Amino acid sequence: MSRNFLPFALPEIGEEEINEVIDSLRSGWVTTGPKAKRFEEEFTAFLGLKGLESIAVNSATSGLHLALEAVGVGTGDEVIVPTYTFTATAEIVRYLGATPIMVDVDPTTFNMTSKSFEQAITERTKAVIPVHFAGLACDMDPIISVAKEYGIKVIEDAAHALPTLYNGKLIGTLSSDVTVFSFYANKTMTTGEGGMVVTADPEIAKRCKIMRLHGISRDAFDRYTSTKPAWSYEIVAPGYKYNMPDIAASIGIHQLKKLPAFQIKRQEMADFYNDALKDLPIELPALPSERCSHAWHLYPIRLKAEANITRDLFIEKMSENGIGCSVHFIPLHLHPYWRDTYNLTPELFPVAQGIFESEVSLPLYTKMTDDDLVRVVSAVKLVLSNG
Ligand SMILES: *Cc1c(COP(=O)(O)O)cnc(C)c1O
Repeated sequence: MSRNFLPFALPEIGEEEINEVIDSLRSGWVTTGPKAKRFEEEFTAFLGLKGLESIAVNSATSGLHLALEAVGVGTGDEVIVPTYTFTATAEIVRYLGATPIMVDVDPTTFNMTSKSFEQAITERTKAVIPVHFAGLACDMDPIISVAKEYGIKVIEDAAHALPTLYNGKLIGTLSSDVTVFSFYANKTMTTGEGGMVVTADPEIAKRCKIMRLHGISRDAFDRYTSTKPAWSYEIVAPGYKYNMPDIAASIGIHQLKKLPAFQIKRQEMADFYNDALKDLPIELPALPSERCSHAWHLYPIRLKAEANITRDLFIEKMSENGIGCSVHFIPLHLHPYWRDTYNLTPELFPVAQGIFESEVSLPLYTKMTDDDLVRVVSAVKLVLSNG
């Protein structure tokens, strides 16, 4: 290996983020304060829909938990989730004593469909969590209409979908109940750790804000800036500790400004891969249909049978050639906790199982150079030609 190893993912942090963090450190306000508030306002402005509220939290996992709590999910309820996702989508259902019901996904988009969702509905179904896999939106219109018909709440796990257009509208501005974005280190923008809860429902927003900070009726920032006595507050519920500190929001403010440029770069990189890899024995990622777009958080390919190589060996060989790859996802039904708790078998999820066995995620992030992209393509060709 003559050149440096190309990691699977890296964040792109500039001087603007670094200086803003330093400014927060020097200001003396390191926890949730003016910058978290500004980040929320700018996030709402980015989504551009009147009446939306953005609520900054310390992870998307926290945000999903808050969202489910706010729509009233509790013991005995069922929440429908795709098996093809990260465990966070389902674990938050367990936090509330409810049961996640896993469903299979579409073979092209790897997304939950309105059909798989509708088939899993029972008397106990309280909510559904569609996941926009890799940054391509689920077909939300039919999912939302099925949900409305049965009185089911829709919480979008948009950890991959910033920014993603669905029928000309940004994810976060659809008529679902809540949308949750992630700013984890490898997502399309980062705050180190962080997330954003977005909703147009003032009652849900109010509950999330209260539960984000211990169930306190006013947050710490208001407490220290309002004219009421600073020591006075009321606990109205047993809340959580999910607020986003200003140090993280400092990063987010500048990442958000760069997001449109990041998105253009990701699209260009995906276009390059789509063209350079098209004649190989691999299935390329699903493309968005008209009036939709792809955030390209991930670039997931599938090895066809003609490739004559197992997924695991392919990843090993790519690594020997200096390229870091990953797999998205190990479906929930294969993890011991989910499998054993709910008696899940691969036969229940034939599509997701098939995707998992042949899926590889190639590196795609804004810090990659043109040369890096060429290296990845050359390595893929080399590994496939050697079998
Ligand atoms: C990353 C991710 C999450 C969790 O995001 P955090 O901000 O790390 O909590 C949730 N769902 C999906 C699909 C993810 O990929």
